[in-house]
Amino acid sequence: LACGRKEEKGKNIQVVVRCRPFNAVERKSASYGVLDCDQNRKEVAVKTGGVTDKQARKTYTFDMVFGPSAKQIEVYRSVLCPILDEVMMGYNCTVFAYGQTGTGKTFTMEGERSTDEEYTWEEDPLAGIIPRTLHQIFDKLSDNNTEFSVKVSLLEIYNEELFDLLSPCPDVTERLQMFDDPRNKRGVVIKGLEEITVHTKDEVYQILERGAAKRKTASTLMNAYSSRSHSVFSVTIHMKEVNMEGEELVKIGKLNLVDLAGSENIGRSGAVDKRAREAGNINQSLLTLGRVITALVERRPHIPYRESKLTRILQDSLGGRTKTSIIATVSPASVNLEETMSTLDYANRAK
Ligand code: ADP
Ligand code: MG
Repeated sequence: LACGRKEEKGKNIQVVVRCRPFNAVERKSASYGVLDCDQNRKEVAVKTGGVTDKQARKTYTFDMVFGPSAKQIEVYRSVLCPILDEVMMGYNCTVFAYGQTGTGKTFTMEGERSTDEEYTWEEDPLAGIIPRTLHQIFDKLSDNNTEFSVKVSLLEIYNEELFDLLSPCPDVTERLQMFDDPRNKRGVVIKGLEEITVHTKDEVYQILERGAAKRKTASTLMNAYSSRSHSVFSVTIHMKEVNMEGEELVKIGKLNLVDLAGSENIGRSGAVDKRAREAGNINQSLLTLGRVITALVERRPHIPYRESKLTRILQDSLGGRTKTSIIATVSPASVNLEETMSTLDYANRAK
């Protein structure tokens, strides 16, 4: 799990692309591969010309590129290690998974369990960013003489309403209210949000399982819940160190790990897709996130955080002295070319 990589200095938003392998449906259809991922050159070349123009290509460069054979541990090491260092120094950071439904956002953020039960959950090669991060937080903190506490929450946004996936309340349709924090100009208070203190890394798995069970119920009650909802898993670390002079140093770091709604919910160029508008499911949070990121990248004086629930919740962890990583997930197959181009264009604008 160790981090060997030196971070790139001075960059606050980094954009990473991950392409998953072909799936069974794509293999069966007459689909062909349209992406070439060059991990070393950090380039993705897209064959844009279909069968008629085999030479037509559009090439994008990102901060990192992961091809279909990239392992979970590689993605974790390269993307999360520098971010986690910042969090341990007391800063707030955010990692997003952005992409079309079915391209690997949840696979990347949460991961899966191998079918042979040979691995413990945190050693499973299919474990994603969330379990690996919690595992490493405990390893790092128990290494030195820091007094610490770790708290987690799991909030989902569906149709601009907030749901607490760790709430002890059995009714998953109970909505939470959000207010501006009177004590913190950049923060909000989410009334009644369950924040669970995690004492050992072994407790983490149970907490994640609890969230997963609630999510399953929610998806039977709300239309297209899993593709339209945003999932925000937040870890807050309080650290207390005593320096040589015997003074106490308190640091608070926060990490948000966000599995976004499917990007097919917004149209190309970031505008609201006509079909989506007609279906009445404009995804305000996804749309506003794009605008907030553009405003941050272009260093505009006004950042429209207040225009959606997601960006209000993340306001204290986006921009300023925070680091943000966007992992854009894509399919390699020609059937998804249109959405893939849309995702790559979005990711390209966030650089
Ligand atoms: P999303 O959350 O974006 O809708 P999922 O994470 O559920 O997509 O992934 C869809 C399917 O593709 C899952 O069955 C998952 O196991 C598989 N998958 C996604 N990414 C990868 C990958 N990098 N390697 C292997 N399988 C993957
Ligand atoms: Mg998903």
